[in-house]
Amino acid sequence: MNIDIHKYISQLNEAQQAPTLQKDGPMIVIAGAGSGKTRVLTIRIAYLMSQGVDAFNILALTFTNKAAKEMKKRISEIVGSSEAKNLWMGTFHSIFAKILRFEADKLGFPSNFSIYDTQDSVRLISAIIKEKQLDKDVYKPKQVLGRISSYKNSLITVKAYFNNPELQEADAMSKKPRLGEIYQEYVDRCFKSGAMDFDDLLLRTNELLSRFPDVLMKYQDRFRYILVDEYQDTNHSQYLIVRALSDRFQNICVVGDDAQSIYAFRGANINNILNFQKDYDNVQMYRLEQNYRSSKNIVEAANAIIDKNKTKLDKVVWTANDEGHKIKVHRSLTDGEEGRFVASTIFEEKMRNQLGNGKFAILYRTNAQSRAMEDALRKRDIPYRIYGGLSFYQRKEIKDVLSYLRLVINPKDEEALIRVINYPARGIGDSTVEKLTVAANHYKRSIFEVMEVIDKIDLKLNSGTKNKLQDFVTMIKSFQIINENQDAFYLAEHVAKKTGLIQELKKDATPEGIARIENIEELLNGIRDFIEGQREVDGARGALSEFLEDVALATDLDKDTGDDDRVALMTIHLAKGLEFPYVFIVGMEEDLFPSAMSMNTRSELEEERRLFYVALTRAEHQAYLTYAQSRYRWGKLVDSEPSRFIEEITDHFLEYLTPAENNYRYKPMIDADIFGDVDKSKLRQVKPTASTPPAWVTSNDPKPDAAIRRLKPLEGRAPVSSTPIPDSKLVAGNIVMHERFGKGEVLNLEGVGADKKAEIRFEVGGIKKLLLRFAKLDVI
Ligand code: ATP
Ligand code: MG
Repeated sequence: MNIDIHKYISQLNEAQQAPTLQKDGPMIVIAGAGSGKTRVLTIRIAYLMSQGVDAFNILALTFTNKAAKEMKKRISEIVGSSEAKNLWMGTFHSIFAKILRFEADKLGFPSNFSIYDTQDSVRLISAIIKEKQLDKDVYKPKQVLGRISSYKNSLITVKAYFNNPELQEADAMSKKPRLGEIYQEYVDRCFKSGAMDFDDLLLRTNELLSRFPDVLMKYQDRFRYILVDEYQDTNHSQYLIVRALSDRFQNICVVGDDAQSIYAFRGANINNILNFQKDYDNVQMYRLEQNYRSSKNIVEAANAIIDKNKTKLDKVVWTANDEGHKIKVHRSLTDGEEGRFVASTIFEEKMRNQLGNGKFAILYRTNAQSRAMEDALRKRDIPYRIYGGLSFYQRKEIKDVLSYLRLVINPKDEEALIRVINYPARGIGDSTVEKLTVAANHYKRSIFEVMEVIDKIDLKLNSGTKNKLQDFVTMIKSFQIINENQDAFYLAEHVAKKTGLIQELKKDATPEGIARIENIEELLNGIRDFIEGQREVDGARGALSEFLEDVALATDLDKDTGDDDRVALMTIHLAKGLEFPYVFIVGMEEDLFPSAMSMNTRSELEEERRLFYVALTRAEHQAYLTYAQSRYRWGKLVDSEPSRFIEEITDHFLEYLTPAENNYRYKPMIDADIFGDVDKSKLRQVKPTASTPPAWVTSNDPKPDAAIRRLKPLEGRAPVSSTPIPDSKLVAGNIVMHERFGKGEVLNLEGVGADKKAEIRFEVGGIKKLLLRFAKLDVI
C-alpha cells in the first residue's frame, strides 16, 4: 500500500499526532468537545493501515452508523476504498449483530434470528402482562421493558435475577413483585421466536465470549486493534465486550470526554473512562486541549458551564479561533412565539449571509418540543428534517411489509406474525390468535409451527378457520421459495402485491393514504439501492436478511437522503459528536431543561448540565438560547422560568435580545427598596429576562442581576404566587421549607402587608431575605 499518510498527519497538531502515531498498547484520549478526538481516531486507523496492519484486524466502534460511514469515507480517501471496505466499523449493536449471526447456533439461536425493535418488545411485554392478568397500570409495559433492559445491560440474566434477593425485593418494593416472572417469560418467548432485542445483541455477545473460549480467541485474534469513540457513554455490557476482545493484544485506543457523558440514565457508566488506567497495564493517557470547532465565546461559555459540576476530570479547553459573537438569549411569551423567533432568525441569517438550510440546527431536550418549531418553519417555507422521531422503518405501512419479509426469513418470529396474520383482513380473529398463542406456549413451539400442523391438533377451530391458517402458511412458504430464486427487491414487490397490502392502502384516497403507498415505493427503492450497493462491494446477490438487519439497527440519523440542505431538528442526545455553524437550543426553562425528572440529586443535575455542555459545544459560529414564559405541556398551558443554566453562563458571554422595557413590570418594586443592600444603579442597567416574580432577594447576593432576571413580566396575567403564608403564622424561630432552598430557620420578620419579608438562614445557601408574598414556604 502506497499511502501518503504524512500529508494527513501534518494536518494534526502535535498533541493530536502523539496518540495517532502510537501504534501499539492501551491508550486513552480524554479531551473536551471539538478538540479533534474523532479526527484522531480516523487518521489513526489510516496510519495503522499504512504501517501494514490489515484492515480485517481493525475494529472501530462508533456512536452512530452515520459516524462510522463518514469515518470510512474519510479513510477511503486516504487509503483507497478497496482497503477501507474491509474495516470492521460500526455501532456496538451492528458489529455484534453480525458476529452473532456467525455464532448464533452456539447459543441455540438460528443464524437468521430476528431483531426486535422497541415496538416489538413493548408489544410482547404487554401481551405477557395481559396473559398473566396483571394490572397494566402498575406493570406499565414501557417501564417494565426499561427495567429488563437495565438488567440486561448490567448482565443480570433471569437466573442471576432469581439468585439475587435484593433485586427481587427492590421490585417488590416498587409494587412489581412479579417482574422477574415477566422477565423470564419475555426471554423465553424471544428465544422461542428466534429473536433478540437490542440489549440481547450485547448480552448474548457477552455470553458468547465468556462461555466459548475458542470463540473469544478467534475474535481476539481477528480484532488486533480496537478503537472506541465516545467511550464515556459505553454501558457495562459494552465495556465488558471491549475488555474481553482487547485482552490478548491490548491494542486498545479509546477516546472520550467525561464532560459529555449523557447516557447514565440508560446505564452508561462514567467509571469506564475513569477506571481505564486500572484496567490495562502501561496505559498511555493523552489530552487534547485546542478546540477547532467553535468561537472563543462559545468555548469559554461552555467551560464556565461545566465548571459548575463537581464530578469531573480537570481539563483545559481553549481555542485559537476568533472571539465570535456573543451567545444570544431570547425570551418569548409562548412556545409558539419561540418557534416563530427561531424560524425568522434562520430566515434572516440565511438571507444576510447567503447560507444553506443545512447550516442550522435546532436542539431540544424532549421530542415534544419539535412541533412548535415545525409549525413555524413550515410557515416560512424553510425545509427541515426531524431526526429521532418515529423512524421511517417504524411507520405502520413499512413495518407491515417488513413483517412479512421477516417471516420469510424467520417464520418463528412471533411479533412479525402477530402483526400481519390478519392484516390485510383475512378472517383470522383475535380468539384464534389467542388459541394459537396458548398452544404454542404449551408445546414450546412458535405459532407458525403450530399453524403448520393445525390439522393434527385440536384447538377447537372450525374448518374454515383452519383453511385460512393453512393458506397463510402456504403463502409464506411460497415467498420463501421466491426468496431462494430471486433478489430481495423482486420478493418485496411481490409481497406488497400478493398479500393485498397495496390494495388495502389504495382504498384510502386521502393524502395520507397516498403518502403511505409512496412510502412503500420508497421502501422498495431502498431495497433496490441496498442490493445494488452490495453487488458493488461484494459482488454478492442482494441478501434479504442483511437488509433486514440493517433496517432493524438503522436510526434515521443514519439515513442519507441526498437532499440534505435542511434545517436539522433533534434532541440534544442525538446531536452528540455533530457540529453546525448555527445552533438554537430551545426550551431553556426550569423543569424542562434541566428536566423536572432530573433535579432530585446532584448527579442527575450534573448529567443535565453535561447535556447542556454537549448542546452548546455543537455550535461553530453562533449559539442561541431561547425560552418561553409559558408553554403547552401535557395539554396544559404552564408557566415557566428561565433555566438556571442561562444564569450559570457569565453575562459577559451573553447578549440579551429581548428588550427590557416592554416586559418590565416590576420596576416599581426596586424603587420600593425591596432589594435591600443591592446596588440599585447597577440593577437598573440590567435587562430583565426572566419570567418569575422576585421570590427572594438577598442582601449579599454576589450577582444582583441574577435576582433581577427572575422578574416576571406580567403581560396582563396575575403573578403566579404560591400559597402565601398568612402573616400571623410565621414567627422568628420557625423552621421552614422552601421549594428551592430547602430547610431554613426564620431569623427575623420586617415590613407589613404585601411588603412583608422574612430573613431566613437556610442550611444550604446561607441567609436570604424573602418577600413573603412570593416565597414558597411551608412551616415544618
Ligand atoms: P466531540 O467531543 O464533539 O465529539 P471531537 O473531539 O471528536 O468533538 P472532532 O469532531 O474530531 O472533535 O473535531 C472538531 C472539528 O475540528 C472538526 O470539524 C474537525 O475537522 C476540526 N479539527 C480537528 N482537529 C483539527 C486540526 N488539527 N486542524 C484543523 N481542524 C481540526
Ligand atoms: Mg467526536
